[in-house]
Amino acid sequence: MPANLASIPPRLPSVDSLLRHPACHPLIDRYGRDAVLATVRQLLDDVRESAVTGHASAAELSSEVLAGRASERLAIQHRSKVRRVFNLTGTVLHTNLGRALLPEEAIEAIQTAARYPLNLEFDLNSGKRGDRDDLIEGLIRELTGAEAVTVVNNNAAAVLLALNSLGARKEGIISRGELIEIGGAFRIPDIMARAGVKLHEIGTTNRTHAKDYEAAINPRTGLLMRVHTSNYSIQGFTTSVPTQALASIAHEHELPLLEDLGSGSLLDMTRWGLPAEPTVRQTLAEGADIVTFSGDKLLGGPQAGLIVGSKALIAKIKKNPLKRALRVDKLTLAALEAVLSLYRDPDRLAARLPSLRLLTRPQGEILAQAERLRPLLARTLGEGWGVAVQPSLGMIGSGSQPVARLPSASLCLRPIVSKKLRGRQLHALEAGLRNLPIPVLGRIDDDALWLDLRQLDDEAGWTGQLSQLRWEGEAG
Ligand SMILES: *Cc1c(COP(=O)(O)O)cnc(C)c1O
Repeated sequence: MPANLASIPPRLPSVDSLLRHPACHPLIDRYGRDAVLATVRQLLDDVRESAVTGHASAAELSSEVLAGRASERLAIQHRSKVRRVFNLTGTVLHTNLGRALLPEEAIEAIQTAARYPLNLEFDLNSGKRGDRDDLIEGLIRELTGAEAVTVVNNNAAAVLLALNSLGARKEGIISRGELIEIGGAFRIPDIMARAGVKLHEIGTTNRTHAKDYEAAINPRTGLLMRVHTSNYSIQGFTTSVPTQALASIAHEHELPLLEDLGSGSLLDMTRWGLPAEPTVRQTLAEGADIVTFSGDKLLGGPQAGLIVGSKALIAKIKKNPLKRALRVDKLTLAALEAVLSLYRDPDRLAARLPSLRLLTRPQGEILAQAERLRPLLARTLGEGWGVAVQPSLGMIGSGSQPVARLPSASLCLRPIVSKKLRGRQLHALEAGLRNLPIPVLGRIDDDALWLDLRQLDDEAGWTGQLSQLRWEGEAG
């Protein structure tokens, strides 16, 4: 406590009297007495400190003003940590921003599953205990041609579970060109080790041949693995063994072929002008015994890992006690079923599945939107900034098609100052946009701040908050 406490001006109200002030009543109604008391106490301590050091004026110490400050503090403290943002980064399935956006059908399904009891593990026909995978098995079989399916928390879990179930204490053969790392510390060699599978790497980074697999197979081999190199591409002098040939080798030796597709689309994406990705159906048809893929990448659903394949192998995977630790919850299953149902009608899928709708938005439409919004943004930023509409290139994201670019359009914001000051200005504006009620996230590149409008759906919500934009050095 400060030594010169005696010099505190008497005008600072007590905790009690401030709590009793009418301006504090609505705060107590809203946040509860305990929270308001704690905040008021802390606020008065802070003010007392600054009063002692001579930073507070009489007006700043009135009960009305103090109640207002307490209200601001409480609002910030009680603001949800989970916040909606505008993703104008140009990356559609952005892992750090929650990947796929769910369709209304899935949101409704989540609400129902959250609000009421449901037949999660209960067979309504027999009245007996059921299996949660049964809720989506029919749909997955229909959409992929798989015999059986099981669902876990994400694709990393799917790979871990499949490897552990089929290859523990044995060797897993994989090409050196496929020993990938996905962001967030998912590395195939580490996952294999954790799954108890001994990594047997073969071939070279750029070239692996059928004869490399043939030569590697030995009595300790438990499985052959193929990983879709989803977040990088090897180009030039390269060879890898296609699924079909690899499946023949595996089956000749009575070994399973496990293929991690990563994104794994259910339909051929080229019909919407997107780059070709191997589909789950095609990979199974070519002979992979187990295929794993994500629910929230190109599929456009909730976070989940799907494991599909032969009945016998899926049964083995489901018996693994790890399955219980990695299983999905009812909300995920509800959303997944709703999303999968939309795939039954491919003709309308791009209109109904948000991620696909955003991925396929024509560049012309985005350019027109950018032209429409440019004057407003130019007015908001004022003299010191150049605001231009620019064609730009976005990405699918989440490791899907790392080299593919989505032709898009951006508002390109450039500070009109000397090169030396530019970086500072850009970062100040970037922070200002991030501080809006619904934070706006763009991308700094080439001495400009780029706002890719491919994902700007809620135009009114975005423009409506622009008047609140403040940034350091705003006046120019
Ligand atoms: C993304 C990806 C994973 C991890 O999937 P999550 O759903 O993020 O856990 C695993 N393997 C590949 C090839 C991937 O692309």
